[in-house]
Amino acid sequence: MDKEKILLTPGPLTTTLRTKLAMLKDWGSWDADFNKVTARVRHSLLDIIHGELSHVVVPLQGSGTFSVEAAVATLVPLDGHVLVLDNGAYCKRAAKLTTLMGRWATCLPFAESQAVDPAVLERFLQDDSSVTHVVLIHCETGAGVLNPLQAVADVCARFNVGLIVDAMSSFAALEIDARTTRFDALIAASGKCLEGVPGMGFVFIRKEVLAACEGRSQSLAMDLYDQYVYMEKTGQWRFTPPTHVVVALAEAIAQFEEEGGQPARLARYTRNYQTLVAGMQALGFKPFLEPAVQAPIIVTFYAPDAPGYNFQNFYAAVRARGFLLYPGKLTQIETFRVGCIGAISENEINQAVRAIELALHDLKC
Ligand SMILES: *Cc1c(COP(=O)(O)O)cnc(C)c1O
Repeated sequence: MDKEKILLTPGPLTTTLRTKLAMLKDWGSWDADFNKVTARVRHSLLDIIHGELSHVVVPLQGSGTFSVEAAVATLVPLDGHVLVLDNGAYCKRAAKLTTLMGRWATCLPFAESQAVDPAVLERFLQDDSSVTHVVLIHCETGAGVLNPLQAVADVCARFNVGLIVDAMSSFAALEIDARTTRFDALIAASGKCLEGVPGMGFVFIRKEVLAACEGRSQSLAMDLYDQYVYMEKTGQWRFTPPTHVVVALAEAIAQFEEEGGQPARLARYTRNYQTLVAGMQALGFKPFLEPAVQAPIIVTFYAPDAPGYNFQNFYAAVRARGFLLYPGKLTQIETFRVGCIGAISENEINQAVRAIELALHDLKC
């Protein structure tokens, strides 16, 4: 069957036809029309976090990780010390890229089933004055945990250390307010909760720290300071922009605003999440996380404890019915993940649960 699959994955995800259609035209990167689209997107992005006064936004070509790497290289001095609040796979990735960028990185470990604890951070910073920056993953997409951004930001502000937030899978769905939450950088991307297509990230940088970022990055292509200065001066991207990704994002943002912005998006994802968990529990599945730490973004389920089960076959049986699941990312136990984000509603979630039920019959689980 040639029908389009529904992606229950946390990026790339299912986009609307309107967003896809926006990509049917070619754009010149020097052309004023395209530069207007870039300017409009940047303006809208700042609006979403109420960051016009406090922050700038710098788009960057590439997947989300490129922007995390660029943010670390642009903000953290070579002799800086980055403390990563580590409760999952994306935290470990952030620590690894920090080390590869030649900065000193320390992981402060937490259980992957729990949110990070601001009190533990506070004690660490009391004992170790060498930390210059803290890295927090807002929603740890590995297991789906929601981490306490505001409380961590408050601790960082009190100790006067920089905070770099990977808000890749939370931005535009969960509330982030730059007027009340202090962070030096916050990173997200086109192909997550804004429901654009993948291909560009963007980094909000606090204006107060911007000037000190000049010349820090050892990478030419990933230097967000240069990208910012060039974009302000010319309205253009420094190097070839992902033109179709940018216009698709502009169209996705227009729909985001029409839907009612962040509160409406959160409400829809929360309904998706509740529908998913209720349906899966009725089939006998158990979520890995306690509801108190679960973000309504992606849900990790324990794999069926049946001899007929393996993820490849399960994935294929669900895929044959039109839905793409996501493998688990936990180190110890066998799990799989189901995303709640994308241009989908309870209807698609209910159909997906039914597809999972039929797949279990196929596998005799
Ligand atoms: C998606 C995601 C990223 C970026 O991953 P890419 O594969 O580079 O797009 C980074 N952090 C988190 C928490 C994510 O969910």
